[in-house]
Amino acid sequence: MQIKGVGISGGIAIGKAYKFQPLEIVVEHKCCEEGCEDEQQLRCDLAKKAAKEQLAALTEEMKNQPDKAKIFAAQQEFLEDEEIDEMIHDAVYYEHYSAEWAIESTYDQFIKIISKSKNALIAERAADLRDVKLRLLCFLTGKKKKDLKHLPENSVIVAKDLLPSDTAEMDRENVAAIVTEEGGSTSHSAIIAKSYRIPAVLGAVGAMSQVEDENLLVVDADEGIVEISPEASLLENYKERKTVADRDAEIAESWAGKPAYTADGVPICAGINIGSHKNTDGYENCDYAGLLRTEFLYMDSNHLPTEEEQFNIYKTILQNMKGKPVTLRTLDIGGDKTLKYKELPKEANPFLGRRALRLCFDEPEIFRTQLRAAYRASAYGKLQIMFPMVGSIDDWRKARDFALAVRKELENEHIDFDRELKLGVMIEIPSAAIIADKLAREADFASIGTNDLCQYLCAADRLEPSVKDYYQTYSPAFVRVLGHIIKQFTLAGKEVSVCGEMAGAHTATALLAGLGLRKFSMAPSSLGKVKYTLSKYTIEQCEQIAAMACNAETQADVMEILEKEAKKRA
Ligand code: PEP
Ligand code: MG
Repeated sequence: MQIKGVGISGGIAIGKAYKFQPLEIVVEHKCCEEGCEDEQQLRCDLAKKAAKEQLAALTEEMKNQPDKAKIFAAQQEFLEDEEIDEMIHDAVYYEHYSAEWAIESTYDQFIKIISKSKNALIAERAADLRDVKLRLLCFLTGKKKKDLKHLPENSVIVAKDLLPSDTAEMDRENVAAIVTEEGGSTSHSAIIAKSYRIPAVLGAVGAMSQVEDENLLVVDADEGIVEISPEASLLENYKERKTVADRDAEIAESWAGKPAYTADGVPICAGINIGSHKNTDGYENCDYAGLLRTEFLYMDSNHLPTEEEQFNIYKTILQNMKGKPVTLRTLDIGGDKTLKYKELPKEANPFLGRRALRLCFDEPEIFRTQLRAAYRASAYGKLQIMFPMVGSIDDWRKARDFALAVRKELENEHIDFDRELKLGVMIEIPSAAIIADKLAREADFASIGTNDLCQYLCAADRLEPSVKDYYQTYSPAFVRVLGHIIKQFTLAGKEVSVCGEMAGAHTATALLAGLGLRKFSMAPSSLGKVKYTLSKYTIEQCEQIAAMACNAETQADVMEILEKEAKKRA
């Protein structure tokens, strides 16, 4: 039997089910006698004080694990909330509720409101409220919370949902995987599973009723599948996949923190793509951030982010990157990326429409606000700015002039910024790729967006499964275009990076290095595998591979060349 959900952390785990049902406290809904309000309020106050102390201690205990410490610090905020305090007070004094009932009813009202929020990040804070409520009720009733501190070896925890405190304190050594009926990719369970790299399937509806304690489970976090008591042949198949996946993960793990060099000692800059300021994965292991996708800021918000909001977030990222260069890409909205609070024009072909820079030109205030925030933040680290969807020299100059005008504005206002700040282009439209020599003369640097460049070059929608065979990142045509861009920028003495998915695909590593690429920016989870792959090839070998690929006739031919070379080094 199989259950589907959302896979988190990736990987495959095989283990025995450990069903976890946390303590539920049933509160008696009985009014207390008149006159005992002060006593009930005092009990609420004492419970709150104890909970605060416990949470402060937990925050301190987790201080070396900031992700987890943040959870408990955030929970303390609920205990400081005046509205919550007021409602508890009113329930005690006007409704004559007992302390337990007042706390339960107040927290339940907030949980109900928050969990209905359309914003997943807010909705998932309901788990924190439940956690705090349980902590307070435990204190009042003297009951002890069940926990996951001691588990049998190789357990797959199966639960309706896990409260943040359950996961933070769990016996990590013995957890093979996590399966929950609730929770999504932004839930606390997901954050914890990712930070410990525990394969998890969340939102696995029906798990609690279909799984029995000690059932053998296969958790495939790559596909978001849980197999319950699988048949022998399926289990064997998973075991084989697990062996390969574990080996890959081990290699990646051991290489992630090393500097990147080819086998003959040529240094390569290994960068990360940042999709949110909340996730600092890879900051330690990278040399730079080749792509900061700023649209997350606009998409996570319910209004256009203000200059101040943006400034604070960019500044935080720069400070966390501790002086390593961060390449901020200006707003890339349109195409498949929409904003819930701003109507974008309906277009028959949004990927060919008013996307990214084109939208910014039409809405200069949005563009100006972002550029002001970025320039101001540049005083706090090493920032560079690049423009997406540049299709011509005109686009580039217009964007550059916009930035220079903002720069002038800040100068006039005597606001500090980095005067060395570089401006670059993303090369992701074929018309820009073809005139790479011209762009290289004017722009400070380039970053190749292989995801879009391939869709526009091959005329195949990057999101449309039915044309995936036409979307050919290994076709000789695409390889030649990449070679052309890299060569032109290198000849001009300007830096060129790849920040599309291809930079993180270890199958493409030698090819890209052979085309002359020395800067690769990728998802943090790919760093290890790419660094390891680079270490197996000399630059001369890479160049031979690239030459063969450019002269090949079909994508299949190129892939065969790459596979053959990889096998020699497996
Ligand atoms: C790209 O197009 O390769 C790129 C990095 O940008 P995005 O995937 O965000 O469009
Ligand atoms: Mg793109």
